[in-house]
Amino acid sequence: MSEAIKLFVEDARAVSIEAAAKIMGLKFKRTGFEHPQPCPNCRGTDTFSFNTSKEKWNCRTGGIGGNDAIGMAAHCEDLDIKSREGLLEACSIVLGRDIPDEGQRESDEDREARKKRLEERRLQNEADATTRAASQDEFRERERNKARGIYQSLTALRTAAQMHGRFYLQRRCGGYPDATWLRVGADVTYWHGQDERGGPLALYSGPAMVAPFIMPDLVAIGCHITWIDLGGPPKFRPELVDPSTGELLPAKKMRGSKKGGLIPIAGHPDCSRWVGGEGIENGVAFGVWEAFRADTFYFAAGDLGNLSGPADPSSRFAHPALKKLDGKGVARPVMVAGPVPKGDQAADDVMWVADHVDELVLLADGDSERVMTAAAMARARARHARPGRLIPIVWPREGYDFSSMAAEAVAGDL
Ligand SMILES: [Zn+2]
Repeated sequence: MSEAIKLFVEDARAVSIEAAAKIMGLKFKRTGFEHPQPCPNCRGTDTFSFNTSKEKWNCRTGGIGGNDAIGMAAHCEDLDIKSREGLLEACSIVLGRDIPDEGQRESDEDREARKKRLEERRLQNEADATTRAASQDEFRERERNKARGIYQSLTALRTAAQMHGRFYLQRRCGGYPDATWLRVGADVTYWHGQDERGGPLALYSGPAMVAPFIMPDLVAIGCHITWIDLGGPPKFRPELVDPSTGELLPAKKMRGSKKGGLIPIAGHPDCSRWVGGEGIENGVAFGVWEAFRADTFYFAAGDLGNLSGPADPSSRFAHPALKKLDGKGVARPVMVAGPVPKGDQAADDVMWVADHVDELVLLADGDSERVMTAAAMARARARHARPGRLIPIVWPREGYDFSSMAAEAVAGDL
């Protein structure tokens, strides 16, 4: 390799994921560091993502990822970086300039000027990142305050004059807790998309169950909202449709932050036995089934990621049966996040569990994909393991979750 080519590759190695993504015209979300989108190479929805804080990229469809801009460019443009041409092409993409001619030597002057340009760009990138982080902090705090506002204005589900919450949990879970964590509102607004003036659009308003996401100091950092339609079995949630795409929208929403927090359902975190899984309904159904034990705190993590934390990339494995077509129509095995927790863990990349907990009962979601759920539950057990702590994983009947088992029992009683 000539001197000029060596320098060219070195320069490309110094390019950040963020700078490369900009040059490549990848999409950035308005806030946050994680930017999911269809893979330019394999397509799919939100299967490709890059993270400008962790300097990482990942494509779930292609089953590949890494922490360098060159590799990302190579995957997106389908280049083989093991070949010299592929590598140089990928370098040329992230640098946004042509591959230098072989044998052509950069003059000292040109080199100085280029080094200066690179340094200036690096400083500018840093300054941009700082500004963005500050505005993200502000945005997050505003969202957290809004979430607290929604929750605090409502009344406890178990005693409210508004009976929708109790009816909903009765029908979905066979009962409801005698606790004040869960609340209910008659007219909770569902914001979605924008109106003609670019402001947030109030798509729907109606009765909803609202739960907080709390941290160890019991302060709420966010809230979880479930809209209720008692006329809509079996889920008893309203059918919400995106007016611009006609797509069905989830009747649940989280506001503020959830990262590292948990949803309290019944009992107090001071208890030494904790029981919970992904969703509120499963936690309630299991609590009803064991009559909400006085020594137990019932919780929900809100989603599987918050329950089990991120996986060590090296523990990723190919699903034994499921396959997916990639962008070229080739069936490839679906890659599953593995059972081993990621090594360099941040405290808030998984829900908190108090140190004094000596029995943590994890409820598996039986109606989600079995292999993926099993790997995530094993990861949760490894992540929350402590000397002397029991962590049993409880599975519902095949094809069910605890709330659908309870709902069937309720229907049978009618
Ligand atoms: Zn891909």
